[in-house]
Amino acid sequence: MFRVMQDTETISWRWALFKDRAKHLRKAVKSAFDTSRHECPLCGFQGPFAPSSTPTVPNSKCPSCGSCSRHRLIALAAAEIRLLAEAEQGRVLHFAAEQCLRPLISEAAPRKYVRADIKPTRGDIVLNIEALDLSDDSYDLIICSHVLEHIQDGKALRELFRVLRHNGKLIAMVPIVEGWKTTYENDSISTWEARKLHFGGGTHIRYYGRDFRDRLTSVGFDVSEFCATPEQVVRYSLIRGERIFISKKL
Ligand SMILES: [Zn+2]
Repeated sequence: MFRVMQDTETISWRWALFKDRAKHLRKAVKSAFDTSRHECPLCGFQGPFAPSSTPTVPNSKCPSCGSCSRHRLIALAAAEIRLLAEAEQGRVLHFAAEQCLRPLISEAAPRKYVRADIKPTRGDIVLNIEALDLSDDSYDLIICSHVLEHIQDGKALRELFRVLRHNGKLIAMVPIVEGWKTTYENDSISTWEARKLHFGGGTHIRYYGRDFRDRLTSVGFDVSEFCATPEQVVRYSLIRGERIFISKKL
């Protein structure tokens, strides 16, 4: 009798799981074809955006320039608070450089623009961000978006601080959970699958909490933040509450 009840319960939750999965699959397909219109501040496109990211974010990717929320937020900050002011006739170092940001950076007319990556073919130069083969005070602006969660960030931040000139600026964006006081790290979580589950990406080694700011200030940076308004979130299809961390070397 007990065995029959167990089998019945197993069938019951498996059926419930299947129904919910099927329901959400239908919703995912529907949202992938969402026709709501948004605007891209990078390329000027107006119309529906495509889904992107893992897990899937609907209305995320501009079909014209390939920008996602984080790139459009940088474009917005460039217009609103002159985020890229240091690039004007300045020296710009851009890690894991996103192609869609290139026109925006070129518009600022930097006298030097270097795209750096740990992998050859992905940039102008190969650089290990934890040990930069660059002189002190050699850049005016460094852009480092969604890089620090992959690497030893203490080493990297000290290096970024070193190569920035006095009054230079680091633009950093990271996956962050504002509800967490401290960053979630665990060295024993080392497989691709486990890191994806715990840190949101197979090559991520942490999920930042609010103390990300402390990591920036601990190496000497003065930190401010930029966040879009609710109206801008809708207009440009941005992630609510997403922040740009602007760190100055004062
Ligand atoms: Zn675009």
